[in-house]
Amino acid sequence: MTPAPVDAARPARPARPARPAAFLDRDGVLNIDTGYLHDPAELRLTTTAIEAVRLLNDAGYRVIVVTNQSGVARGLYTEQDVAALHAHMQAVFATAGARIDAFYYCPYHPDGIVAPFAREHEDRKPGAGMLLRAMRDWPTLAELSFLIGDKPSDMEAARRAGIAGISVPPDVADLASVVCRLLAERNDARPRCEEAARNGC
Ligand SMILES: [Mg+2]
Repeated sequence: MTPAPVDAARPARPARPARPAAFLDRDGVLNIDTGYLHDPAELRLTTTAIEAVRLLNDAGYRVIVVTNQSGVARGLYTEQDVAALHAHMQAVFATAGARIDAFYYCPYHPDGIVAPFAREHEDRKPGAGMLLRAMRDWPTLAELSFLIGDKPSDMEAARRAGIAGISVPPDVADLASVVCRLLAERNDARPRCEEAARNGC
C-alpha cells in the first residue's frame, strides 16, 4: 500500500488569517448622503469618518464598505463611476492614514432600467449577499464583527449575516465616538484583534 503523502494531512495555510471585520455602510455613514453620489468632486465625508476608520484599523478590524448602488440599475451612473469613486475614497482615507480594506457594492434594483441590473438580487441590502461574500473573501471572526449603518435595511442585512448591527442616524455627526464606544464595550475583544493584526495582514 502506498503511504499517503506527508502533506496530505496538513491543512493548507489560509491565504489570509481570520480577523474581525467592521462593515460600514457608505452613504450617510462615511459620507454625507447627497443621493446617488457618483462624482468624486461631490464627496463630503462625515465629520469624523477618517478618525473612525483609523480607530478600527488600530484595533485590528478589517474595514469593509458594503453599499447599495441602485443608481447603476437606474442608469444614473455606471459601474466604472462607482469604481472610480471608491478608488478616490480609498485614496482620501489613505492619505490621512486610514485604511479601507475593500468595497462591495450592489448595482441591482428591481425597478432599474439597465437590463443586466434590473432585478432583485441577494446582494441588495437587506439581503446579506455582500456581507457573506466579503466574509468568504476575507476570513472573518463573525462573533466579533459588526455592520454600522443608517437604515433598517442595514440592520436586517447584519441580522441575516449573523453579525451585530449598529444603527446610527443618517449623516452621522460623530462616527469616531460611535466606534470608540463600541470598542470600549468590547474591550475583551481588543487584544485578540490587535494580536491578529500583528500576526497577519
Ligand atoms: Mg446609508
